Amino acid sequence: MPDTSTPQSWEARAEAASFYGFTDLPTIHERGTVVLTHGEGPYVVDVQGRRYLDANSGLWNMVAGFDHPGLAAAAKAQYDRFPGYHAFFGRMSDQTVMLSEKLIEVSPFARGKVFYTNSGSEANDTLVKMLWFLNRAEGRPQARKILTRKNSYHGVTVVSASMTGKPYNDVFGLPLDGFIHLGCPHYWREGRDGESEADYTARLGAELEDTIAREGAASIAAFVAEPVMGAGGVIVPPEGYFQTIAPILKRHGIPLVSDEVICGFGRTGAVWGCQSLDFMPDAIIASKAMTAGYFPMGAVILGPDLADRMQDAAEAIEEFPHGFTASGHPVGCAIALKAIDVILNEGLLDNVRALTPRFEAGMARLAQMDHIGEARGMGLMGALEAVQDKAGKVPFDGSLSVSERIANASTDAGLICRPLGQAVVLCPPFIMTDAQMDEMFEKLEQALTRVFAEVG
Ligand code: PMP
Repeated sequence: MPDTSTPQSWEARAEAASFYGFTDLPTIHERGTVVLTHGEGPYVVDVQGRRYLDANSGLWNMVAGFDHPGLAAAAKAQYDRFPGYHAFFGRMSDQTVMLSEKLIEVSPFARGKVFYTNSGSEANDTLVKMLWFLNRAEGRPQARKILTRKNSYHGVTVVSASMTGKPYNDVFGLPLDGFIHLGCPHYWREGRDGESEADYTARLGAELEDTIAREGAASIAAFVAEPVMGAGGVIVPPEGYFQTIAPILKRHGIPLVSDEVICGFGRTGAVWGCQSLDFMPDAIIASKAMTAGYFPMGAVILGPDLADRMQDAAEAIEEFPHGFTASGHPVGCAIALKAIDVILNEGLLDNVRALTPRFEAGMARLAQMDHIGEARGMGLMGALEAVQDKAGKVPFDGSLSVSERIANASTDAGLICRPLGQAVVLCPPFIMTDAQMDEMFEKLEQALTRVFAEVG
């Protein structure tokens, strides 16, 4: 018999009926679930009325904060006008047409084509299916392997999880065959004693060359990379990294795809991470800030060469047999059009640039602490790496769960930040004020001080 008694609390009700993903269950049993009701600017508010400054922008996506009137109004207007449609069988909404034009206009490509999904994971799956489809159509059915990097994050569907370079996918028996993970471009952690940053970059280039030689260029469909790795712990690649690997890929005819799910639409201080890191991809994967998080949506943006070849391949067999019920959803597209306008024309990207020096200064200040080994980041994404021993870069014992403790202590102080490995990650909303940025660092400093006193 199901228990029909009224559970005591929101926390108990959450645990009773919801199955959690990416959540440390012992922590939840001990601390309870934070059940949220609404947001105010960069703050979220829970059922007890407690306010938290969300230094994570939700999951990197709520870049315009939690109560942007223009975005809600754009959604409402489109719900009133045409609340839902698909993009199959030669039909699509006017909003979809306009968003594709806008995405190409703001992309680094002179021209191209856009395909819509509901998420970043689906966009990566779609990209891989596109390349497999294209290569078969062009008489190269063996060109299927996908190169990514260790510690990268590309999503959770079967293909995008296989692209993801995290060890936890082992519990699913993933990755699938043909998904190859190259070295993580993290100089501070992976560089050898006495190896310069330039030498480390050269070593990663040589690894790519060797991998292509070993696997055979003709068997490889793409190299997919986040410009700055996000869920890997905000890893900014070493100097010259993309300038080293892009020509190698070009020489072997292997497309370079920029997974901009986190970096895209301003996070790094340019519209695209590939612009901040100065490389030109063959395609872009977009999601998250594309709708400022106000609608689930992702996109594959093909540059001119892949767009032309995909078009020819699809014409040859009359269709590309792929798409989601809500691909190009008119409300999602109307929100994305508004979000892009808000980011580019209403000062959000300007604010990212204006806030970056303050963000870097705050990070640099906390990096002085005895147990912070590295402060790294770009634009408004950053990570502080906790270490037991600073000089030796020795991590804390894993059983101490240091970054989880920091995140929990932050929550107690009214700040949401994210533990990733032994780092804590900050990626504040683009709308933050100077005072809110200062509050973020003050609260984080309190939390770090408390935890380092416990474990240090
Ligand atoms: N790519 C990157 C770089 C991401 O950070 C994420 C999500 N954090 C994804 C893909 C997957 O997106 P989604 O969670 O929307 O499926």
